[in-house]
This record gives sequence, C-alpha cells and structure tokens, in this order.
Amino acid sequence: MSKHERGFRDLEAQLDELRSHQLFRTRRIVESPQGREIDVNGRRLLNFSSNDYLGLASDPRIAQAFHEGIRTWGTGSGASHLISGHTAAHHALEEELADFVERPRALLYGSGYAANVGVINALLSVGDQVFEDRLNHASLLDGGWISRADFHWFEHRDVRQLQCLVSERADRPCRRLIVSDGVFSMDGDQCRLDDLIAIARRTDSWLQIDDAHGIGVYGDHGKGTVDPKRYTTEDVPVLIGTLGKSFGTAGAFVAGEEALIETLIQRSRNYIFTTAMPAALACATSRSLAIVEHESWRRDRLKSLVSNFQEGVKSLNLPVPESCSPIQPLVIGDTNTTLSVARSLEENGCFVVPIRPPTVPVDTSRLRITFTAAHAESDVDRLLEALHTACSE
Ligand SMILES: *Cc1c(COP(=O)(O)O)cnc(C)c1O
Repeated sequence: MSKHERGFRDLEAQLDELRSHQLFRTRRIVESPQGREIDVNGRRLLNFSSNDYLGLASDPRIAQAFHEGIRTWGTGSGASHLISGHTAAHHALEEELADFVERPRALLYGSGYAANVGVINALLSVGDQVFEDRLNHASLLDGGWISRADFHWFEHRDVRQLQCLVSERADRPCRRLIVSDGVFSMDGDQCRLDDLIAIARRTDSWLQIDDAHGIGVYGDHGKGTVDPKRYTTEDVPVLIGTLGKSFGTAGAFVAGEEALIETLIQRSRNYIFTTAMPAALACATSRSLAIVEHESWRRDRLKSLVSNFQEGVKSLNLPVPESCSPIQPLVIGDTNTTLSVARSLEENGCFVVPIRPPTVPVDTSRLRITFTAAHAESDVDRLLEALHTACSE
C-alpha cells in the first residue's frame, strides 16, 4: 500500500468512527429560497431551522436593492478594502451601521467568523489573556486560541467564576479580553451583560460581545442586546454584529471607537488579506437595515410566536426552554433519540435539524427550533402537533 493510500484509509477510519456514533453529518439540499417553507427532497416543509429571524432573506425589496447594486457596481469588488475594493457603497453602509448601534465607527467583514477571529487576533498576542464563556460560538473560541494569548474558560454564564479567574491574574501587565455571545446560538439565553461590564471595569479588561443573534431581534428598533441608550462604547468596547441572520444578507461588522477600528484596519489579518464583499451586497444590506429599524411588527410577531410555542410545550409536558429568543432548543440528550424525533417531525411536515456534539456539549443533543417573523401562528400549532406525535411514538 502506498503512503497515499494509507492516508486515505486513515480518513475513512475516522469517518467510520463518526458514523458509528451517529455523528456523521450530511448536508440537506434545499430546493427553494429561504423562507417560512422550504423544499427539501421534493417536499415542501415548514422551516424551523434558519437564523433568518426577521424573515428578510428573500424580501423582494432587498433583492431589488441587490439588483440595482449589481447594475451600479457589477458583481465582484475586485480587491481587498485596502487595495481598490472599498467602494462608496461599503463606506456608506459602515456609516449607517455605526449610526444604528450609536457608536463612532463600524468596519465591515466578510463574515461573522472572520470578524471574531480577526478582531481577537488584532487585539491579543503572546502574554495577553482571554476569558471565554464555555458555550461561546466556535469563531470566538478559535479567535482566542489562534491569538496565542493565555486562554481561560468560564462555565456558562458563571460570572462569579469569571470574576475569580480575572482577579487572580489582574496584576499582570498585559491586555485582558473578556468575550461572550450576547445571545447564545444553541441555547438562546443571554449573557449576564451587566455583570460582565462590571467585572471588565473592575479588572481593567476589555469586553467583546458578539450579538449575532441579538441584533435585529432585541431592543428598540432592533439595536440588539447591547442597548446604546443603556451601555456606552466604554462599557462594551468591542461589539460584533452579523448580517447573515436578522439582516437576511451576508457579512458582519465590528463597531467601536475610532482607535479600535483604525487598529483593525492596520492589523486585522482577516480584514486586510481578503476580498471585500460585493458592493451590491452592501447596497442590499443598507436597504435591509432600514427595514430592520422600522418594521417593529417583525419583532412583535416573534415574541408572540415564542410565547405561544412555550405555552404549547408546557401543555405537552415537555421542558420549556429557558430562552425568550427565537431560538427555542428542546434538549433531548441522547443523539439517537434526537435524530429519530427530528425524522418524525420531518415526516409530519416540519423541518428541524438535530444538533449534535461537537456543536453542543456531549449528552445535550437537541432540536434547535427557531422562529422567524415569516411564520404564522398556525405554523406553531402545526409544529406542536408534530412534536406531540413525535414524542408519543
Ligand atoms: C452565526 C454566528 C457567527 C458567524 O457569523 P457568519 O457571518 O455566519 O460567519 C458568529 N457568532 C455567532 C454567535 C453566530 O451565531
């Protein structure tokens, strides 16, 4: 056997290992645009597995702005922001996003993943310290590891443990960064923002909040969990928002002080060494931002869907998720059972993708049910019926 063949055998063995633990992932092929319903395997299913919280991913007004953007700017941006890819459309969107979150500056990134890794790496290096919630998004964890700073976990939302970890190390002259999701992506609960801010202040640390699931959904006009009327840029120096979820487009931004943004432009490798997003996408996102800000009925609809769902879950005698966000996880635990409940839901017309380790901790496999403003109240009823059927099988 050649060395080459041995290498592939190795990979096959690892894949078989995943298969034997029901952890092998496959992609479902979607045959329609994102929305309340999607076509999968030739069947139309109610979609409870998207992050398109405000139902904007196929909004015709945003699509039209995208088309007009392409007519004006073409399809490709042609270069990175520091070469010739930073157009007036990108620049305008940055200014609009900064105004939206009421911060001095904002900077666009190609994705939330890139933004998180890029920001942490621009700020931290060998000898610095990073403190992360155990359930932080993978991009925040990866950013912390890649930075080569000393990495410290704290248990999920355990601000006491965080306080101890940080104070024990507070005499070291280095940069300290506390990092958390605003709304946790697989659980839907929120970080203890007031405590995080207090700890960061007491220990002279920086705080980075990734509001990927909060922006658009929470707060006045959808400004997110880091309410600019309550929290200053000093309280939360690094704010991350993503555009692929509530905004229905793609990309991400960092918002903060002038000095932070200029530092990122000089030092953030994920910003510097990558092609700027298409300008037309910036045009589409500008349109989307105006909709996010003004159509508050979308947030009201979400609240009512979630509260009806929770009432229904209670009457089915299932554990009610400790989440008031559109992310409503039903934690089942065992992976096999989770897969079979998801299959049953699908047979009954509801698309809910089961979430397994390593995306979530071992023994916490779950159905991550998400609602969007595109859903009708009757969709919740259909889901509850399907859940009732699945759980009595
Ligand atoms: C989705 C998500 C990201 C990644 O954003 P993309 O734009 O999809 O790369 C980052 N952080 C959190 C908390 C997320 O849920």
